[in-house]
Amino acid sequence: MIKVQFAAGWPRWKQYEHLLSNAMMKAGLQAELSQHHDPEEADYIVYAPNRSFSDFSPYVNTRAVLSLWAGVEDIVTNQTLTQPLTRMVDSGMTEGMVEYVTGHVLRHHLGMDAHIVNPDHQWVWAPPPLARSRRVAVLGLGELGGACAKSLSDLKFNVTGWSRNPKRLRSVTCRHGQDGLRQTLAEAEILVLLLPLTAATDNLINAETLGLLPKAAVIINPGRGQLIDDAALLAALDAGRVAHATLDVFRVEPLPPDHGFWAHPQVTVTPHIASETRAETASQVIAENIRRCEAGEPLLHLVDRSAGY
Ligand code: NAP
Repeated sequence: MIKVQFAAGWPRWKQYEHLLSNAMMKAGLQAELSQHHDPEEADYIVYAPNRSFSDFSPYVNTRAVLSLWAGVEDIVTNQTLTQPLTRMVDSGMTEGMVEYVTGHVLRHHLGMDAHIVNPDHQWVWAPPPLARSRRVAVLGLGELGGACAKSLSDLKFNVTGWSRNPKRLRSVTCRHGQDGLRQTLAEAEILVLLLPLTAATDNLINAETLGLLPKAAVIINPGRGQLIDDAALLAALDAGRVAHATLDVFRVEPLPPDHGFWAHPQVTVTPHIASETRAETASQVIAENIRRCEAGEPLLHLVDRSAGY
C-alpha cells in the first residue's frame, strides 16, 4: 500500500480527499491518502503552503513532494526539503489563466473602461485599432505564459515573449537574455508578467525597466507581486509612463487597506484570482506522477532547485 501524506491544509483536504483517492484508484494505484501518516512511512507528500507543515526532515523515506501550486518560491528554499519536488501543471489552471489574461488584454486593447464608466455620456468616436497592430509582450513563456502568448497570437495580437532559455513558438517573437528583455520592454504596449519568483526575477520591473516601456503602456501582473517594485510602479503611473496596471498578486496578501494600489485610479486590483489549481484535473496530475515514480519513470514537472522554479 502506497502511503500519501496530504499536507496542504484542512480546507483543501475537503476538496481533494475523494477526488485524489479516486484519481489514484483510476491510475491503478493501491494508495492510502491521509493527513496523519507516520512521517517515516509516508511515500509521497502532496503539499501546499500552510502554517502547520514546514519541516520535511522526518520524512526520510518520502520519494517525492508534489506541490499543488505552480509557483514554488515558498518551498524551494526550504532547507529541510531534500526530496525531489514537482510543481503543479494543471490544464484547468492553464485554461483559467488564459481566460484572465486574454480578458484583461482585450479590456485595455479595446479601451472598454471609457464606455463602461461614462457618467457625462460623452460621445467620443475613437475606434480601437485591430489586434494585429497592438504589441503585447509576455514575460515568461512556460506553461502559463506560453499558453497565453499562443491564445493572444490566435486573436492576432502582435506578440513577443521572453524566457530564460531560447524558445520557438508559432506566431510569437521569442527573445531571451538581457538585450532580449530590453527590446521586448521597449515594444510592449501591453506587458503581461508570468514569470516565477526567483532570485533573478525579484524586482525585475523596477524604475529602470519601467523606463524602457513605451509611454502609456499597460501592465498586467498575474505572476507574483515581488516581480514589481511597488513604489517604482506607482511613480511610473503618476508620471504617465504606465497608463494602467492590472494586478492580481502582491508582496503582502491580502493587499493591506492602506496600500497605494487600492487608491490609485489607474490600478485594478484583483484578489489573486487569475487562476487556481482545479482539484479535479490536479488530482489526475498528482496520481499520474505517483504512478510514474512507482513505475521507475521520470517525474513530470520536476522543479530545478538551482534555478528556483
Ligand atoms: P513555468 O512553466 O515554470 O514557466 C516559467 C517561465 O518563466 C519559463 O518560460 C521560464 O523560462 C521563464 N523564466 C524563469 N526565470 C526567468 C528569468 N530569470 N529570465 C527570463 N525568463 C525566466 O511556470 P508557469 O506554470 O508558467 O507559472 C508561472 C508563474 O505564474 C508561477 O510561478 C506563479 O508565480 C504564477 N501563477 C499565478 C497564479 C495566479 O492565480 N495569479 C496562478 C498560477 C501561477 P524557460 O522557459 O527558459 O525556463
